[in-house]
Amino acid sequence: MDFALTPEQREMKQAFDAFFEQEMKDAPKGWTGTLEEVYSSEEGWAFHRHMAKKLAQKGWLARAWPKEYGGESAPILEQLLFSESAGYHLAPGIDIFGIGMIGPTLLVYGNEDQKREHLSPIARGEQMWCQLWSEPNAGSDLAALKTTARRDGNVYILNGQKIWTSGAHRADWGFGVFRTDPTQKGSKGISFLLLDMKTPGITVNPLLGMNRAHLFNEVFFDDVRVPVENRLGEENQGWTVTRTVMNFERSNIGGIATAKRILDELVAFLKTCKRNSRPLTEDPIVKDELAKMAVEIEVGRALSYKVAWIQEKGDIFQAVPLASAAKAFGTETMQRVIYRALEILGQAGVTKKESSLSVMLGRFETFFQVILGMNIAGGSSEVQRNLIAWTALGLPRSWDEVFKKPTKS
Ligand SMILES: Cc1cc2nc3c(=O)[nH]c(=O)nc-3n(C[C@H](O)[C@H](O)[C@H](O)COP(=O)(O)OP(=O)(O)OC[C@H]3O[C@@H](n4cnc5c(N)ncnc54)[C@H](O)[C@@H]3O)c2cc1C
Repeated sequence: MDFALTPEQREMKQAFDAFFEQEMKDAPKGWTGTLEEVYSSEEGWAFHRHMAKKLAQKGWLARAWPKEYGGESAPILEQLLFSESAGYHLAPGIDIFGIGMIGPTLLVYGNEDQKREHLSPIARGEQMWCQLWSEPNAGSDLAALKTTARRDGNVYILNGQKIWTSGAHRADWGFGVFRTDPTQKGSKGISFLLLDMKTPGITVNPLLGMNRAHLFNEVFFDDVRVPVENRLGEENQGWTVTRTVMNFERSNIGGIATAKRILDELVAFLKTCKRNSRPLTEDPIVKDELAKMAVEIEVGRALSYKVAWIQEKGDIFQAVPLASAAKAFGTETMQRVIYRALEILGQAGVTKKESSLSVMLGRFETFFQVILGMNIAGGSSEVQRNLIAWTALGLPRSWDEVFKKPTKS
């Protein structure tokens, strides 16, 4: 594997970096770029939308999409450079649900009307989305979902509840999975629907995090009528579409780049802190901790590049476990970076950004509150490890298979 960028790629990366460096000067004070910041305050949301428009004007928001839908047909590796730059600069503006998930899925499963209706507005940064998947009793085991969509002529009538829906209170549209055939269990009898979030019968209730941030919501459906033409893929075959969504943008390069940014800032800050008249960066224990972080971040970065490289080659079988590894390792690396930084910084590190005693804009206190969630969102580390065991190591899928009686020959 060749890690060196071509001259064109280097130039492109420099253009992304220069753009984000300039634009992020307008970020709200103390900005850390977490989803909580994007969705919680009016200021955060306005900045996210402003950045989305700016990126769209540059033609960068949906670079990987075909030209006729607002993209540039950019190769995956170029997309990776873009995401890495955005992650390093803690930049908002890229709707993870619209740009990252439903857009690419529409390109695969959408009919021409659906593509025309949604892809260009998403690429222009005008239409924001949310993901209506998890339910109170269906998270890791998503196929256990119970919210129904009963067919009545040309509409589905939705009843039930979703939970942990990030940004549902801001989204224009939502994509979700619903049980269209209640006689079937598990991944059968599910359909994939696109919903205008203003449809009568949808109630969005806030679910505040432990930091009081409004990221999550509960979404209730009470006889919500959704046109059949809003279905993606075949009726009762929605699981196939769902699996496709799960396979987009799994490199996690943005998260690793954010960890790198935090480490760079931490090193710069510790150089200014003195203990026994010497900068903290000369303390052997601190140096050791910083070096461990640097090594893990570099490993995570290499994993993310490898995912993109394998995806570009079209080797989907190798890409799946690698993407799981990049996700689990990347979010756990971020966790370790935050925990180690807090050990070094002590009390100052856990002081909120609003306090005059806080250091580094209170970044570590903010990240400490959200870091556990990053690990769970999009499939927990345990689930990723299961996937690696099944798909890369050929281990049994479940305990049922472990204890399965041998078939008589
Ligand atoms: C920051 C964040 C944002 C989110 N945003 C959204 C969103 O926008 N839309 C949406 O639909 N959902 C969203 N979610 C929900 C997320 O998808 C679920 O939390 C996740 O799938 C886990 O499901 P659960 O919470 O029901 O936990 P459970 O599935 O009940 O898991 C509980 C624990 O058991 C472990 N576990 C479960 N099954 C297994 C297994 N087979 N083997 C080993 N361990 C297992 C899990 O790892 C976890 O530690 C978000 C979650 C977070 C944290």
